[in-house]
Amino acid sequence: MKRTMLLALTTALAALTINATIPNRAAAQGPRLDFSKVQETPTDLGHGLYMIVGAGGNTTLAVGTDGLIVVDAQFAPVYPKLKAAIGQISSLPVKYLINTHYHGDHTGGNADFARDGATIVAQVNVAKRLRNPPPGPNGQPGRAAPAEAIPTRTYTTHTTISVQGQRAELTHVPNAHTDGDTVVYFPAANVISTGDIVGSESYPNIDVAVGGSIDGMIAGTREVLRMGNADTKIVPGHGHLTDKAGVREYLTMLETARRLIAREIAAGKTEDQMVADKPLAALDVKWAAAGGPFVARFPRLVYESLKKSQS
Ligand SMILES: [Zn+2]
Repeated sequence: MKRTMLLALTTALAALTINATIPNRAAAQGPRLDFSKVQETPTDLGHGLYMIVGAGGNTTLAVGTDGLIVVDAQFAPVYPKLKAAIGQISSLPVKYLINTHYHGDHTGGNADFARDGATIVAQVNVAKRLRNPPPGPNGQPGRAAPAEAIPTRTYTTHTTISVQGQRAELTHVPNAHTDGDTVVYFPAANVISTGDIVGSESYPNIDVAVGGSIDGMIAGTREVLRMGNADTKIVPGHGHLTDKAGVREYLTMLETARRLIAREIAAGKTEDQMVADKPLAALDVKWAAAGGPFVARFPRLVYESLKKSQS
């Protein structure tokens, strides 16, 4: 009975979070993710740090001597696979699960991690958004995450989470991808988990509806570049492992997109006229090549963000 209820909750959360993560019609019409085909693939980053790629945002694992710290929990249905992949690396318990933001492709596994004993850590706005999610793409009301999925250890601007042998430094970046973003730095291993402030392969999402903004994305990316050093390994929210050079290239893309779209706004173009002008055509060569929902959405989100900051 209990297991059935958990499954129902997990399934409901997955459905909710997929919707919450894909705020546009084009993406909703795209192929459905077949979770049964997902494989969890770990990459050893040295000093007990691993990047694990599965379904949803990238996961980072830090192995201490008395427990584990995990950053981001992917979609709910892949939890058993993620748990197994972590178990292959270490049999120690997950003491802390850090959410970089509230989106379901990063928090889907929250309830399962919590049930297995992890304390969920996030910026305070993540707890608010999971409890009281914004409306979906067609205006349908958001559905609250189950109680176990809500972070119980929240912070405002900076905090530190430790297990024996691993320390995670959490920094909040305001109004960037969402209103509750966290960048996580592991100094011993010299690894940064950026959440969705940085992507290494395609245009990012900006959740303008909850206070995300292009200017916050740019500020957050600059913050990432100030952390660590030239050798820092960077786990982006989505895409392959990257480094400072990759993040600098991404920052240039964000700054260029902002400038080109601001120019369209200054010329009095409506959002649809801006899209018709294809101002990002040169950037598309690299950043639209991988496809995905934000190829079409990104210019609109930058436009909407800039318009909102003017009003
Ligand atoms: Zn996200």
